[in-house]
Amino acid sequence: MVAAPASIAVVGGGIAGFSAVRELRRHGYAGELSLVDPAGLPYDRPPLSKAFLAGTLDRLRLQLAPGQWYADNRTTVIADTVDKLDAGNGTEAPVLALASGRELAADAVLLATGARARRLPLPGMDLPGVFTLRSAGDAQALQAYLDADAHLVILGAGLIGAEVAGTARGLGAAVTLVDPAELPAASAVGVDMAGYLHHLHAVHGTKYVRGAAAAVTGAGKSLLVELADGGTLRGTAVLVAAGSEPETALAETAGLSVDGGVLVDAAGRTSHPRIFAAGDSSRRIGPDGVPGRRFEHWDAARRTGEAAAAGMLGVDPPAEAVDWFWSDRYGVHLEVAGSMAVPGRTVLRGEPGAGFTAFRLGVDGILAGVAAVDGGTAVRAARKLIESGRILDPGLLRDPGTDLRRLARGKP
Ligand SMILES: Cc1cc2nc3c(=O)[nH]c(=O)nc-3n(C[C@H](O)[C@H](O)[C@H](O)COP(=O)(O)OP(=O)(O)OC[C@H]3O[C@@H](n4cnc5c(N)ncnc54)[C@H](O)[C@@H]3O)c2cc1C
Repeated sequence: MVAAPASIAVVGGGIAGFSAVRELRRHGYAGELSLVDPAGLPYDRPPLSKAFLAGTLDRLRLQLAPGQWYADNRTTVIADTVDKLDAGNGTEAPVLALASGRELAADAVLLATGARARRLPLPGMDLPGVFTLRSAGDAQALQAYLDADAHLVILGAGLIGAEVAGTARGLGAAVTLVDPAELPAASAVGVDMAGYLHHLHAVHGTKYVRGAAAAVTGAGKSLLVELADGGTLRGTAVLVAAGSEPETALAETAGLSVDGGVLVDAAGRTSHPRIFAAGDSSRRIGPDGVPGRRFEHWDAARRTGEAAAAGMLGVDPPAEAVDWFWSDRYGVHLEVAGSMAVPGRTVLRGEPGAGFTAFRLGVDGILAGVAAVDGGTAVRAARKLIESGRILDPGLLRDPGTDLRRLARGKP
C-alpha cells in the first residue's frame, strides 16, 4: 500500500473519468479531487445514437450524476479543456494547462480522454450536413436534420451506424447505409448474429449499399455521395460512422508510452509514475507484456476507470471481468460478452428473434463468447461460464430447456 496522492485531477468526464471519481470516494479517498471536461458535468454517450437522438431522453437525463452529487463527493468540476500536460520528472506534481489560461497542479492525474470519431480522408467531409457522432452537440446537430423529409446516408454500418439507421427510420427519415463489408460487425457479434441483425435493415426499410464512399459534394440539403465504383447517392445529410480513434494527444506530448492508445497496466498505470489512464483512450498491456486490443465499450471504460482509481490509491484493482457490451437497433436489444471471433465453432440456441443466442466455443470446447437478442439473463450466466473456463457440452448450450444460470452454478 502506497500513500494516496494529496490531490488528483481527472481529465475527461465520460464514464471512465466519472467511474474513477466515484470509486476514489467509495474507497474513502479524502484528498482534493478535480475533474476537467469542456462539457462540465459528466454525461453518458450510449444514448446519443438511441433515445437522445430520437428526442425521448433530454440533456439533463444524459448526465451520469446530478450537480449535487459532485458537491456531496467534494469533486470540483471544471468546464474547460486541458491543452497541455506537463508531466514533470516524477518527483514534482504534473501540471495541466487549461484552455482558459488557468494551471492546475495535481499529485496524480488520470487521463480519461476517450476517443474521437474517425474522419474519412475524403473530399467534402467539412461540408455543412456532413456529421460525425461522439458528443451530445454532435447528436443535437444531426437530429436537426432528421425528419420525415430527410434522407440520411450513413457511411459505415458498424454498431453506431446501424443504431443511428434504426433511430432515423423511427423519426421517419429515409436511410441508406454504405459499407464495404458484406456482413458488417461479424467479428464483433459472430457471423450468425450479424446475419440476423443485418437483415433487420431491409425489414425496416433501410437501404444497404455495399461499397465505399469516395467524396461528398453538393450544398445545403442536397448532398451527393460519390462512390468508389462510380455510383452516386443523394442525401439531405451524411453521417460518417467509421469508428473511433483514441484521444492520446496529451499523453503523447507528455512523453508517455502510446501505441494505439495510452499503454497501461491492470491498475491503469502509464509509463509515468504519477499519471494513469483509463477508458477508450487507453490500451492495456497484458501479463505477457503485449498490448491487448483497445476496448471501445461502456463497461470496459467503467471498469478501467475503477481500476485506475484503485491504482492511484495503491490498492488492488477489482478482479478482471469478461468484456461485455450492448447495442440497440429497431427495438432489438443485443448483448455480447467475451469474444465471438476466436477460432472454433458456433452453437446456436433458439430462432432468429427474441431469445436467439449464439455461443462461440474455442477449439478446446471452452466457451469464449456469447451474443444474445433480448437475452440479458443468458448473457450474464454465460459470462460466468466464460470466466469458469469449463469445457461445455454444445448440446446443453443448444437446448433452450437448459437453465444457463444453473449451468453456471455448476448444476446439471
Ligand atoms: C454514439 C455512441 C453510442 C454508443 N453506444 C454504446 C452502446 O450501446 N454500448 C456500449 O457498450 N458502448 C457504447 N458506446 C461506447 C461508449 O460510449 C464508450 O466506450 C465510452 O463513452 C467511453 O468512455 P470514456 O470515458 O473512455 O470516453 P468518452 O465517453 O469519450 O469521454 C471522454 C471525455 O474526455 C473529454 N476530453 C477529451 N480530451 C480532453 C481534454 N484535452 N481536456 C478535457 N477533456 C477532454 C471529452 O470531451 C469527453 O467528454 C457508444 C459510443 C457512442 C459515441
